[in-house]
This record gives sequence, structure tokens and C-alpha cells, in this order.
Amino acid sequence: MVDLPGSSRRFALVLLAAALWVGCHGSSDPSNPAIVVPRFSSDFESGSIHAVTQLDQEGLAWELKLRNDNDDATLPNSFRTWWYVRADDVPTQQSLRLEFSRLGFPYYFVPVYSYDGKTWQYFEEAEVALAPGFDLTKPDSCRLVIHKKFAAATVWIARTFPYTTNDLSAFLNSISTSPHVRIDTLGASPRFQKPLSLITISDATVSAPRKTIWIHARTHAAETGPSFVLEGLIRAVLADDATAKALRQHYIFKIVPMHNQDGVFLGNYRTNASSIDLEARWLPSPGSPYLDAAAPLENRLINQGAMVPALLNAAAPVVLALNLHSSNATPDTAAFFFPHFGSDSSKYSVAQRNLWQKQIAFIQEVARNYGGRIEQPPADGGSGFLNSFFPETWWWTQAQDSVNAMTLETTYGRAGFGHWVTENDLRDLGTALALAINNLPPTQRHSAETDDTTDTSMFRLPFKPEIYIEPEYCPLYYRVPEV
Ligand SMILES: [Zn+2]
Repeated sequence: MVDLPGSSRRFALVLLAAALWVGCHGSSDPSNPAIVVPRFSSDFESGSIHAVTQLDQEGLAWELKLRNDNDDATLPNSFRTWWYVRADDVPTQQSLRLEFSRLGFPYYFVPVYSYDGKTWQYFEEAEVALAPGFDLTKPDSCRLVIHKKFAAATVWIARTFPYTTNDLSAFLNSISTSPHVRIDTLGASPRFQKPLSLITISDATVSAPRKTIWIHARTHAAETGPSFVLEGLIRAVLADDATAKALRQHYIFKIVPMHNQDGVFLGNYRTNASSIDLEARWLPSPGSPYLDAAAPLENRLINQGAMVPALLNAAAPVVLALNLHSSNATPDTAAFFFPHFGSDSSKYSVAQRNLWQKQIAFIQEVARNYGGRIEQPPADGGSGFLNSFFPETWWWTQAQDSVNAMTLETTYGRAGFGHWVTENDLRDLGTALALAINNLPPTQRHSAETDDTTDTSMFRLPFKPEIYIEPEYCPLYYRVPEV
């Protein structure tokens, strides 16, 4: 056996394990060599399935169990969301019945498939159903059943549009020749030594004071929607038009496009290679902007190499910090933000009320630029986030109301459209973010006090309180966990 560098050797072991697993499934029926049955595999980047079981004699019905991140059975059932499999020797004259089981969330959705691993399409709603008797307390009952006659013998099937570290590399290559783009590496991911990239976009010829926009994404590995949002936003900022030029002149964009690279590589849904959920692990050091040494490496690299320098850059103060995620939800839930605090002067300080004003004004502006397809924010965002260690908690501790730090959640369903949300719909959300940033009040480049935060005319959808209810079973979360 050739001696492989550490990271490659580990990947080889992953491949071997996957190959052994594949050998246990699929292949021809030994009792009847004339029957060729599908073979399922997940030995590729972001691939994920736990086990595959043939349910009938003919090989036309299969159960595919979802995998825990890192096969770690101690993780919550709600973390099982993602799958990504390849099937070969798929019959094209008969329908297959595929039952994806152990789903960790109860909402109807439609997965995607591809015949080339690149171009994805949704199944028809008529082809997809949740199994009767779906009960979250019984993981094996939680099944999404697909009936489909495929048009080719090889097909990839995923929970939603994949977006791997290779996809990110290809995108970074496509923008790297722009004179307005600089791509730095903040360090290497702990398990596979993947480069942790920081994208900086600005007009280098501008010497006037500017503001900084901070954005990071993919803390939760399989929440791929934000990668398409970032593509749209970055293209909008790099475009050859007046809005893009104004954005580059007024702002420096600092973007970490893929926080949890090991998790993405491994096909995890939420955690990194050590089963750590990086989201609530921005552990502070008292009196310092730097994270505690016990914080995960991925967070410390971003904190030391990018967040703190941006925070301390008085020539370009950070005004907006977006944390991009995706949330399982009912099919008609659109993208939404988690704003903090509220307008009640008996509950909140002047700074807290000012942050609230800025947050609602920004959400309204995004909704105006996205056809109203943003959920209405709650009347009060609460301060529960101060009891945990989210990135927004770090920004508030360091900069109070001067940084508008919020999480934006894309969703997987129709998301306010008359169709299941597409990659380009998500890119258009990125464009809407860019347009909203371009319309930020001048002091964030006016006091937001003049904005009417009670105006809901720009939102197309009815208010959905359930999005913002603090769940009793998860007191550490100030927001609904993404189940
Ligand atoms: Zn998330």
C-alpha cells in the first residue's frame, strides 16, 4: 500500500468503508442471475446514507436509512436531515419505490435527482409522499416514499441541491480573476486540512472611509441554500453596473463561504468531523474579542483571522453581520430572519431598541427586493440569544448595536413561490441582499428611528408565529432548532 499523506489516507479509509458497505447491497440477485438490481453508493464528497435494504424479491423496492453525522448514534434524531446517494443499474422500464427512513423532521418536502450529478431537478409532488403513521418518536416510521420510473440507469438523489467543497472551489476560481476580489486562507480544517477561505470584495482604488459587511455560511454542513445565496450576492456585487459599483465603493465585503468544510466533505448534516455543532460554540474569553481556547478550531480560525481584524478596523467599521443557514419547515415557509430584542422601552435598553430598529428595517428592505418572499418578523425578538454562544452573541458583546448581526434562514419548500425553490431563486435572494445593503441608511453608511418597524406591507405571506416560538424542550436555544 502506498503511503498517503494523512488527509488522503483518511479519505482512502472512508472510501474503503464505503466500498465495503456498497458490497453488501445491490448487485445481481444470486438466486436469479437474470435479475439485475440497483446498486446504491455514497462514496463521494457529501455523499451520505446509513444502510440500504431490499424490500422485495424483484429489487424494485428499497429502504434507505438516513445516517447520523459521523455515524454517531449519540446525536439527536433531529440532526438526520441530509442524504445524497448514487444508484447504478437502475431499471428504466419499471418504477422504483424508494423509502428514505429515519427522517428527523416532520415536514413534507420534495427531494431532487440528477442523471449527471450536476444538473438537478425536483421529483413531481405526485411521486413523493410521507408514509402514513409518521411518528417522530419512532424513527423507523419517519419515511419519505418516492415512486419513480427513471429515464437512465444511473441517478443521483439528494435531500436538496448538493454544494460541495469542490463546487466552492470552482466558484472561487470563477471570481478569482476579478480585480475586486481577494481570496485568503484562514487556515485548514481540523480533519481533512481543507482551506478555510475568506473572500474580500472591495474597490481597491477607493480611499474614502467605508463600512464592512460580514457574512459567513455553511456552519451546518448540509444547509446548502446559503451557498447559492452567496453566489447571487457576490455576482451582484461584482457586476458591471451602477449598483455594484456603488456597493464596492461604499463597502468592504468579508465573506467566509464554507465554515464547516469537514462536515461538508463527510456528508454530515449539521456537525463537524468530531460531531461538534459549531453554531453555539463561539465561546468567549472574558474581556477579549478572541475566543476561548476551548472553542472549536474552525471558529477560532475565523475569529482570529477575520472577525477580530474586521471588528478592529476603524477605517471600515462592520455594520452588518449575516449568519446564513437553512431551516426545515412547512413547504410554504419562506426565508426568514431572527431579529433580536424589541421596541418595548420597559424591557429593552436604548441600544437594544436601536439594534431592533436596524434589524427590522433591513428585513423590510430585503423583502421589498425579493418580491415580498421573506417571512414577517415577530413583534418581539427576545434576548434569549444572550444565554448562548452564537456568532450574534459575540457581535453584540463586542459591538452592541453598531453591528446588525442576524441569522438568515433559507427554506427548502416552495418558499413563497408557486414552485419548489430553485438554485436561481436562492441566487436571487443573494441579489436582494445586495440591493438591501445598497439601501442601508447612510449612518450605517440615518438613524433607523424614522423607519416604521410596524409596516408589514412589503411582506407577501401571513405572519407565522411558530417560526419564532422558543421551544421548551431546548432551553439553550433562543430560536427553533432547525429540525
Ligand atoms: Zn443551521
